[in-house]
Amino acid sequence: MNSLRVPPVSRRTFLGQLSVGAAGLALASSARGADQPPGKKLGVALVGLGSYSKGQLGPALKVTEQCRLAGVVTGSREKGAQWAKDYGFSEKAIYSYDTMGQMADNKDIDIVYVVTPNGLHVRDVIAAAKAGKHVICEKPLGNTVAECDAMLAACKAAKVKFSVGYRLHFDPYHREMMRRAKDPAFGPFLQMTGNRGFALRPGAWRADKKLAGGGPMMDLGVYLIQGACMAYGGTTLGGGALDAAPVAVTAKELPKTKPEQFGAGVEETIEWTMEFKNGAKAEFVTSYVGGKDTFRAEGPKSWWEFKQKAFTYRGTVVDTSTGPVVYEPFVNQQALQMDNFAECVREGRESRVPGEMGRRDLVIIEAIFEAARTGKKVAVKV
Ligand code: NAD
Repeated sequence: MNSLRVPPVSRRTFLGQLSVGAAGLALASSARGADQPPGKKLGVALVGLGSYSKGQLGPALKVTEQCRLAGVVTGSREKGAQWAKDYGFSEKAIYSYDTMGQMADNKDIDIVYVVTPNGLHVRDVIAAAKAGKHVICEKPLGNTVAECDAMLAACKAAKVKFSVGYRLHFDPYHREMMRRAKDPAFGPFLQMTGNRGFALRPGAWRADKKLAGGGPMMDLGVYLIQGACMAYGGTTLGGGALDAAPVAVTAKELPKTKPEQFGAGVEETIEWTMEFKNGAKAEFVTSYVGGKDTFRAEGPKSWWEFKQKAFTYRGTVVDTSTGPVVYEPFVNQQALQMDNFAECVREGRESRVPGEMGRRDLVIIEAIFEAARTGKKVAVKV
């Protein structure tokens, strides 16, 4: 079967397509950004300069068209100074976690991007909102639904836009899967399967309950949950942020092979199922001892399979019932994600990956943990 090689989409066309489908209402915003002159890039401050900031978000901010790196929040002034040099912003825009509030006086910073460990998101998002900045927060949005509620309330009170770092909504492969799910010639997809895992190095914060909120479910399972909601088809492309949630889940935690590494409240491997309103079902596994990066969605008319790197930044391999799909050249999904948020801020629109979507996934995760604890099917109430 012939592979479908999709011609490169220009950035402007792609961002334009993202804007057209936005379901959010235009809201007047009193925070900075909306009032920046046209053509001026919005300033982004990264909070936490760990591997995702260093490896992905920083480099993406070198190719963004609507925003640029304008400051950092870090525990190491020395590291911050190196970033200021590398990215060309003033050393005055280096903050610590304790002095973040002073950003309120920095008119060059419009957007704060929180990239700290999961359990610190609530602290950093609230500090950013209080400083009057629009906020993007990495996944999972928080450790608990209660933390998500606190973040949403703080952003609402400060009248700032709030988005979760779900980059896959800006990845051409995942967008095409969502499009096909809604296209009567392909969809719906009624059976989803997937596996996401890697071997976690000992000592990592990702196995610390306070900082991570749990084990691989928090870090990796959230991708499979997102994948199912995307393949179910209601998440974007016309649907609202919340209409793609499953109605019930079951789950089973597998016995720990490394109990010294994974303590109480931190699963090592967990399997779960999700059931949707139309009868669609999903079966997934996520693990910190190893695993894959695959996802398959199947229906009466067609199937879509991420055979490799379903949720990673590069090297995605997709096959479908009508042949392989290849997008070339490489699309920097983080750059598109941040540019789209900058556009939303400028135009007073809600993001297509709003904070509420991050909260929805915490509701699902809490239901999965409850199902694993009780051995019972648990209803999901978003
Ligand atoms: P990391 O450990 O590499 O970086 C975390 C940063 O937070 C470090 O700079 C660290 O110094 C700082 N930090 C501040 N207080 C800390 C504390 N008390 N303990 C530990 N670190 C502290 O982690 P990362 O891989 O960059 O992940 C950060 C966040 O980004 C997580 O929420 C993660 O889920 C998310 N992430 C998202 C993606 C994606 O593709 N969207 C990819 C990787 C990570």
